[in-house]
Amino acid sequence: MFLEMYELTKLSDQDLHQKMLTTAERERALTAQMISMIEEAERRKFFLDFGYSTLFDYLTIGLKYSAAAAMRRISAARIACEIPEVKERIADGTLSLTHLSQADHFFRNEAKNGPGAKSMSTKDKRAVLDQVVNKSTREAEKVLIAMSSAPEQLKEDRIRPLTPELTQITFKANAEFMAQFEELKGLLAHQIPGASLSEIMAEAVKVAVLAMKKRKFKVRDKDMSGAKQSAASSAIQSAAPCVEQSAASSAIQSAACVEQSAASSVIQSAACVEQSAVSSVIQRAACVEQSAASDIVKGLKPSLDEGEDFNLVAIGTSGAGNKYSRYIPAAVKREVFLRDGGRCVAVNPLTGEVCGSFIGLEFDHFPIPWAKGGPSIASNLRISCKLCNRLHAVQSYGRIAVVESMV
Ligand SMILES: [Zn+2]
Repeated sequence: MFLEMYELTKLSDQDLHQKMLTTAERERALTAQMISMIEEAERRKFFLDFGYSTLFDYLTIGLKYSAAAAMRRISAARIACEIPEVKERIADGTLSLTHLSQADHFFRNEAKNGPGAKSMSTKDKRAVLDQVVNKSTREAEKVLIAMSSAPEQLKEDRIRPLTPELTQITFKANAEFMAQFEELKGLLAHQIPGASLSEIMAEAVKVAVLAMKKRKFKVRDKDMSGAKQSAASSAIQSAAPCVEQSAASSAIQSAACVEQSAASSVIQSAACVEQSAVSSVIQRAACVEQSAASDIVKGLKPSLDEGEDFNLVAIGTSGAGNKYSRYIPAAVKREVFLRDGGRCVAVNPLTGEVCGSFIGLEFDHFPIPWAKGGPSIASNLRISCKLCNRLHAVQSYGRIAVVESMV
């Protein structure tokens, strides 16, 4: 029962205390209940039908949780899915959502950087949770760092806006990154004498962005009207043969790990970029610029290069009846990319606004999906982000088919 302020003022201290205890208890029970519902929502993915491209979007836009509150609940639901008893611990107050968020980060760090880089067993995860029960946030952090096999990686990278024009970025760099950073610094020595760290990184990023546009969207130098060649680009082009290119495409990888709203994507995707990926931005910058003939494309999986419509084969719509080829000629890619301004042009069904995301861009057969006979021509293609592409697939093939393809 909701008591008005006036009624509360009439309660004795003891009664107020009792009321606060029972309300806190109810609040924890409701939180545990919400975690169960989030588990079920994630299993069904019904929010796709309502126009939310991710669970995160559903929690933040649909249920009005803050981004941090939504992430904590998603972490808790992820753990509860494997270790159901954590919900009882949330309800009795011995584990908080913050504990579970810390533990989730710990588990993912162990899976990535721990011995054998493999996922921890459920038994080991339970043992970790036992260690943080009833601890304060700070104490739990200390315990987790002490147990971590890669404690230096537990500290997350950080992007902190300082002013509207300036942002501070903190990330961990490995030895390979630093070696290549020094190499790039040397290459830039004539163009930018005494270049600062941010100037060097700015040049590296410029070159990497241009290289990715060329590779994925077939954009040419002459298409980039007004784009000045960066100092790094010219320094690299005039330099000795480049180091061997890394096999994986770091920019695509970093985009692929993003599973959240376009609104928060810039900050969160940055958090997803692992040091090796950051390192290979410079690697790629040094290499792709020199590979004008772009043989690199041959080494890519077709799905990345073609920017597939949402996993058509997996959802049983192979498009076998389509008389048109799925191959998208370079000139068409270029035309679509430049026409759409190099960002997602899908309209968000919830807001009616153009998405505008740069994350995980793909060529989307729109309005007629390729599997339904749509041709690979500019007027039937658009640039779409991974998440908008998924929503388009839900509209075209139904949620069930799309969810099954994601398993
Ligand atoms: Zn989009």
